[in-house]
Amino acid sequence: MSDTALDDPAVARAREGGEEAARARHAELADAIAHASRLYYEQDAPEISDAEWDRLFHELVALETAFPDLRTPESPTQRVGGAPSGTFDEVRHSRPMLSLANAFSEDDLRAFDARVRRGLGLPAAPQAADGLTYVAELKIDGLAVSLRYERGRFAQGATRGDGTTGEDVTANLRTIESIPKRLSEAVSIETRGEVFMPKAEFARINAEREEVGLPTYANPRNSGAGSLRQIDPGVTASRRLASWQYQLIEPGGTTTRQSEALARLESLGFPVNPNRLAGLDLDAVLGFIESWRQARHNLPYETDGVVVKVDRLDLQDRLGMVARAPRWAIAYKFPPEQVETLLEDIVPYVGRTGTLTPVAHLAPVKVAGSTVARATLHNLDEVRRKDIRIGDHVVLQKAGDVIPEVVRSLPERRTGGEREFEMLPTCPVCATPIVRDEGAVRHYCPNPACPARVAQEFAHFTGRGGMDIEGAGWKVLEQLLGRGLVKSRGDLFRLAVEDLESLDRFARRSAESLHQAIERSRRRPLERVLNSLGIAQVGWTTAIDLARWLAGAVPAGDAPFLERAAGFLRQVASEAPDRFEEVPGVGPTVAASLAAWFGADGPGAGVLEDLASAGVEPEIPAPRGPVAGGGPLDGRTLVVTGTLEGFDRQGAEDAIRMAGGKPSGSVSRRTDYLVAGENAGSKLAKAQELGVRVIDEEQFRRVLAGEPID
Ligand code: NAD
Repeated sequence: MSDTALDDPAVARAREGGEEAARARHAELADAIAHASRLYYEQDAPEISDAEWDRLFHELVALETAFPDLRTPESPTQRVGGAPSGTFDEVRHSRPMLSLANAFSEDDLRAFDARVRRGLGLPAAPQAADGLTYVAELKIDGLAVSLRYERGRFAQGATRGDGTTGEDVTANLRTIESIPKRLSEAVSIETRGEVFMPKAEFARINAEREEVGLPTYANPRNSGAGSLRQIDPGVTASRRLASWQYQLIEPGGTTTRQSEALARLESLGFPVNPNRLAGLDLDAVLGFIESWRQARHNLPYETDGVVVKVDRLDLQDRLGMVARAPRWAIAYKFPPEQVETLLEDIVPYVGRTGTLTPVAHLAPVKVAGSTVARATLHNLDEVRRKDIRIGDHVVLQKAGDVIPEVVRSLPERRTGGEREFEMLPTCPVCATPIVRDEGAVRHYCPNPACPARVAQEFAHFTGRGGMDIEGAGWKVLEQLLGRGLVKSRGDLFRLAVEDLESLDRFARRSAESLHQAIERSRRRPLERVLNSLGIAQVGWTTAIDLARWLAGAVPAGDAPFLERAAGFLRQVASEAPDRFEEVPGVGPTVAASLAAWFGADGPGAGVLEDLASAGVEPEIPAPRGPVAGGGPLDGRTLVVTGTLEGFDRQGAEDAIRMAGGKPSGSVSRRTDYLVAGENAGSKLAKAQELGVRVIDEEQFRRVLAGEPID
């Protein structure tokens, strides 16, 4: 990679030490980088910060610049990303998916501009006639994907992998709303872009993971990557990922500039980040970077820099690429903002499922756009690992620009008065002895009736993503529960205005307005009710699909829908939990979570009945589910692969369900038919190997209509 100039001081330092020392250091660095990269790319769980990785990488490049013999094909400087995991089918990229050279300063950017000019044979000083301008785009911190469309339909999507071969994550990408399934024109193209997790979703998922004792994600990038590379698309669907596309590969297309390609992507229906500028010289590029240095903290997604690209595609071609990056682009990385502050105390908080999370109380300090006074320390192991003590000075940053994170303590500033933190022996709220399961990291309060747990479950229930009851916040709920006015979720709907009036700081008018808000929420859509329950792995998308499925699958009867749904869910959970996989996008993991929640002994037992008896009557969506018995594909399992003329994947799966069949994502001996469209790949081979009946689109239409195909 040529982002390190020969006159870089790091290169001079490398030279001074001599070749032998350089060789030893090179081996050490290459090992450390390879280890860190495996954790980052293959397990989505980095051990070191990105800035630290960048420092090691920069030193490695400097050593290779000083001693070019060290630059072997195995060196991390010659490679992209990590190996495909083996969990997914492999996809060979039509063109390599590269990384980008990095810049950390104005000097690095000027050196890049000079290299580009030299490479194109242009004079060092820009001139109007030289035709060289740059496009500046925000660098989205997500996971690179390539998307292939056949005649306007989404056909396949893959991760970058090692740059040559990636993972086939088509099914998971289909669950992402902003990835178009059909374009505005019937073109066959490929795009490259970034899938990412919005900041708010990152905060939500990490809070959820911490609560159940799972390790939290380091940043939205790792969280997004982890979510996309799930075996069960239902898990991906439960996390609201999004995407921006930034590169177009259109055989025979007529775009001549990157800026035009971005506009073309937009007109085809792709999400393209609007925060970009074209026609820039280097000074204007620097201005663009400055304008985003602080403003980026206000964006709802994370950006870790600015990508600068030569606009004209013919000039890009002339410049070409080095081993792992194009010569016509560079990524400027914003330095992570870190500040020091005093850690005044560590206080354990009880969460929705009882987990005790140690939280740092900090002397308030401004970091990445807001004032921070609290930061989660995750668990006791983490406090010990980072050697954080009460009274320490600590370094603080925001993980993924959102979540305040104590990076490390500063032992050199200790005065001797600091104290080790110890986990409490009993719950600070209900005094139940705290439990830590063998081999697990989390400590928790095992009492399901612990007021702290219950209040949070209720806050989730009444919150924005749930029943959305304005005025029923944490403080009010704590009082209602504390005074015994509310014991179950249904009780909220049984409250009289007088009950509410008796609460602290309530008067007749405020009581009436809260009462009205509760009344209004009685008819919230079913998906909201489902989302409000706090079932693990069930987010918006799954709640919507589950609601539609229930609308079609719950047996008819005289009782109100919610009551019938409650009985139906309990029965499915205990007798046929596999049936949850009939819900589009729900695989084994989510199905198991639903079964555990709605099962006879699960936390959800009786909850829907209680709501029904309290008069909650949700709006029921139009059904999308199997016909109730007797459809032409009753009890049959079908797998669809390749591109079909008349159906996109979702449409084909819906059609199967409507005919009473079960669509599945993978071929096994239990598959009745494999519907093979154009470009069918490994699934077709597998079906042939297992002797599964393969049918084409025409035959598929016939079986849907219940006609014979033999
Ligand atoms: P990169 O993240 O520095 O940049 C290349 C990537 O930027 C492209 O592949 C593309 O996915 C993305 N990108 C985002 N917006 C873009 C846009 N508008 N146009 C073009 N591309 C855009 O490089 P990388 O190879 O993905 O990863 C290297 C980086 O990953 C390191 O610099 C480091 O920050 C991080 N890393 C960290 C660890 C760790 O242990 N913490 C380990 C390995 C890598």
